[in-house]
Amino acid sequence: MSENNSKITIARLLSEYEDIFICPICSNPVEVVNLRSLICSNRHCFDLSKRGYINLLSHPLQTKYDKKLFESRKVISQSGFFSPLITRISENMLEELKPESKLIKLLDAGCGEGSHLADIQQRIIEQAQCDSLGVGVDISKEGINIASKGPSRTIWCVADLANCPFADKQFNFILNILSPSNYSEFHRMLADDGMVIKVIPGSNYLQELRAIFYKQTDKSEHSNENTVELFNRNFDLVAIQHVQYGVTMENKYIEHLVRMTPLSWGASEELIQQVLGNDKLEVTFDFTVLLGKKMNAHRTN
Ligand SMILES: [Zn+2]
Repeated sequence: MSENNSKITIARLLSEYEDIFICPICSNPVEVVNLRSLICSNRHCFDLSKRGYINLLSHPLQTKYDKKLFESRKVISQSGFFSPLITRISENMLEELKPESKLIKLLDAGCGEGSHLADIQQRIIEQAQCDSLGVGVDISKEGINIASKGPSRTIWCVADLANCPFADKQFNFILNILSPSNYSEFHRMLADDGMVIKVIPGSNYLQELRAIFYKQTDKSEHSNENTVELFNRNFDLVAIQHVQYGVTMENKYIEHLVRMTPLSWGASEELIQQVLGNDKLEVTFDFTVLLGKKMNAHRTN
């Protein structure tokens, strides 16, 4: 698909769903104009990029996550290393769907390069009898630029999670996978009977890399207690699930693994080279999945 076609497809999708957006500057409704821009009633204007994603940041922000990190994470995702996690998340969503659901609106808050959202959406489309609209949001333009090469039933946006450009109660699911949260915004945007699915690293996540990079320092210790408590203060925690599995990673993936994780940021070049020199590496993937609902909605049942 040419860039132009893809831009027009996305612009049509945006027009169809323009109601889900609000202006990130003044919170007024927006409309799609000339299949090219989102414009609010105060004339704040946000143009579609050539690739068809939309940048809704009111001012540019720098992040520590660069293009290489996202490219590496995409390689690791597309090679199936996250599959058991993606399967678990999709199962949770399918169980939650009501028979009368015709359209699921799904927001991935902090979607990075978009692989997780694309994979989850694919599984939902294959297994559920309803339509699905995916919306991926990340503060990194580099991440969204890569994501926008993906499937066309998804709207990709550069935006600030602290000031999300979406109207209230729009989403049936909000995913937040290995990414910072903004609970008041999640609460505002979630439908009353919707579900937040937050994934955090478990205590054994990439323990083999931790052991090498943080040998004899307390950074190798890892606790989720505070994160779970904070989540539970904002949402009714309906389940905690643990997803742990081991993989053998061949050399060609090791560099991508090291690049995609902030774990290596504080490590010396010598330690990084030591890891990269392995023909194979046994790696533990360990995640904690938190399922949350709005407190009132859940307790009235
Ligand atoms: Zn505005």
